[in-house]
Order: sequence, then C-alpha cells, then structure tokens
Amino acid sequence: MEIRCPRCGKDFVRLVRREGLAEIVASAVGLYPFTCQLCAHRFLRLELGKRYIESTVDKRQYERVAATFPVTFVGEKASGAGTISRLSLGGCALESPLKLMEGMMFNLRLQPPDVNPAINVETAIVRSVRPPVVGLEFLRINPTEQFRLIQYVAGLLTAHRKVE
Ligand SMILES: [Zn+2]
Repeated sequence: MEIRCPRCGKDFVRLVRREGLAEIVASAVGLYPFTCQLCAHRFLRLELGKRYIESTVDKRQYERVAATFPVTFVGEKASGAGTISRLSLGGCALESPLKLMEGMMFNLRLQPPDVNPAINVETAIVRSVRPPVVGLEFLRINPTEQFRLIQYVAGLLTAHRKVE
C-alpha cells in the first residue's frame, strides 16, 4: 500500500516509533506516526486494522556490520561503481572515487561474494558525505530483495558478533 507524504507528496514514508503520551494514546484508536524520509515531515495517519510492531519500525536501529564487496550504482546525477565497507538492513557505507552529495538517489546493485544475482536496492539516498565514504540509507527495496539482504546480513552478524 502506498502512503504519500502530505507535505512533499512523495511516497518514501516510514512508520516510526511513537513518541510521547499523545502518540501512544492516538495509536489506541489507529493513528500511527509516520516520517517522510525525504523532507522529514512527521504526521499521524489512520491505519485501521493494522498491528503496530514496534521492533520493525525503525530500520536505522539495525546493527551495522563490516563487509567489503563491490557495488554499482545508477542515479540521475551520477552513476558508477564503488566498494561497500559497512552494511545493515537499513543502509550502507559506500566508498567511491566519484563526488557524491547528500540527497542524491541511486539504484544499487550489491554484489557480495557468492551472492548471485546481485541484491537490488531499488532506491537509496545519500545521507552523509565524508570523502571517500558516503552513508546511504535504503529507502525502497522489494520484498524478495529485502529477504535476500536479511539473509546475507544475518549471516554477517552471526560471523561478526563479538569480533567488533
Ligand atoms: Zn515529504
């Protein structure tokens, strides 16, 4: 189901953690807080008949793990190849010789070793820039690719836990 941001009209909207008594009370009648990932607008929306699962709402709380593998990215303003250095279910750190800027959006193809075909992240956005590393947040990924990403990251987490 598509939910659009009332401010910018885009559909990069995410269910977020309830904050404060008012939002907890609101959720009792089916009003849940959402945040637009593009313009940061926060709004309540009536979601009748939906169960609110707190642990799944904020991808940024997912653990990031060290991982090094190639990635290709295609965007309106820049396209190229680079190396992933850290990865989570909600985003990744990308090293690239290209000049990438905050707000740029890409289609990503993550190519970890022994993963075929590449994991396709439909849309990712540059959230931070510390050359040569940029921080990307995954905005949209289809359920099949999400499942493949979860499997890959879960494997890494199992292998890396206690090491870092
Ligand atoms: Zn918006």
